[in-house]
Amino acid sequence: MSRFLSKDLACLEPYVPGEQPQDKRYIKLNTNESPFPPAEGVAESAYLQAEQLNLYSDPSGAPLKKAAAGIYSLSPENVSLGNGSDENLAHIFRAFLKDKGVVFPDVTYGFYPVLCSLLGIEYKTVPLRADFTVDVGDYASFGCPVCIANPNAQTGVYLPPQKIEELILQNRQRLVIIDEAYIDFGGQSAAPLVEKYDNLIVVQTMSKSRSLAGARVGFCFACKELAAEIEAVRCSFNPYNINRMSMFAAVKSIQAENYFRECTEKIKSVREYTANTLKNMGFEMTDSLSNFLLAKHRAADGGKLYLKLKERGILVRHFSDERIKDYVRVTIGTKEQMDKFIEAAGLILAEEGYADGRNFKKN
Ligand code: PMP
Repeated sequence: MSRFLSKDLACLEPYVPGEQPQDKRYIKLNTNESPFPPAEGVAESAYLQAEQLNLYSDPSGAPLKKAAAGIYSLSPENVSLGNGSDENLAHIFRAFLKDKGVVFPDVTYGFYPVLCSLLGIEYKTVPLRADFTVDVGDYASFGCPVCIANPNAQTGVYLPPQKIEELILQNRQRLVIIDEAYIDFGGQSAAPLVEKYDNLIVVQTMSKSRSLAGARVGFCFACKELAAEIEAVRCSFNPYNINRMSMFAAVKSIQAENYFRECTEKIKSVREYTANTLKNMGFEMTDSLSNFLLAKHRAADGGKLYLKLKERGILVRHFSDERIKDYVRVTIGTKEQMDKFIEAAGLILAEEGYADGRNFKKN
């Protein structure tokens, strides 16, 4: 540690993102990206803007706010934009949690505690139930803001909007932040509820269902007062946070409604196919409504599966957290990618002496 580092950062443990290998070509099922390219016209919109990279982007983000608001028939004044939803979360945490702290589930998106450490925010965790579900009743006694990923990160387990409403109504003086990074893969968004409840913020990303992880675009929805406060933080930090190319790519992508539906439907059906196949192979899984599965097998623990799959050119994610260390998290790719993953998993299980692995035949 240098003698210059701020004391409060001495113990900062940065978030460790999934691998993004630049050398070898893997089947990449480790960071929940879309296997599909951006919609038609998205790349062209970005290229056109490239010619004007000498100019700053629109700091108000007006066209993108309008497009994002339009998804849920909200007003642009209900929206704030982020350089990825990670940045939205940072603005929200900075704006509203600094003096109150926050509570979130023990198994969830690992970025929340990191952000808390960076910003000096106290946090508490509530254990998920044994089946990895969130019981909203567990949060009733907490007076500090609540942050829930829905579907939840790492597990994919989903809460319907009635449960979110129950959480909101437990205490109208308490803020509820719902991180909907994975909502488009079968869940119903709570975004329309921001018109009804002034203690709700809904965060979404274009990184997953809209194939724009590399563009870094996220947005959040809230009542106008909260959205204006988030905007004030955004503009105090980086008013040009969405670059010119990404801004236009994102607008075009939101307009490509049919392609979005096509891609999310494909992911849902490949998820079902993969889950059924893995079940037949003896895997256990959470009930995921997102673009990944959290799966474990008694013949090989999560760490071993991760390494052996990597040796076979397939990247999945393994977390060492106690409650999920036996599992691997597998992003849903194309049917072809999932078949390769299934085949490799079957061979690894056979190597581990699991007879059903060796006998396993593709559907
Ligand atoms: N929230 C959750 C629950 C996530 O899993 C992710 C992806 N790692 C994010 C937010 C951040 O996504 P992005 O910054 O790419 O929008």
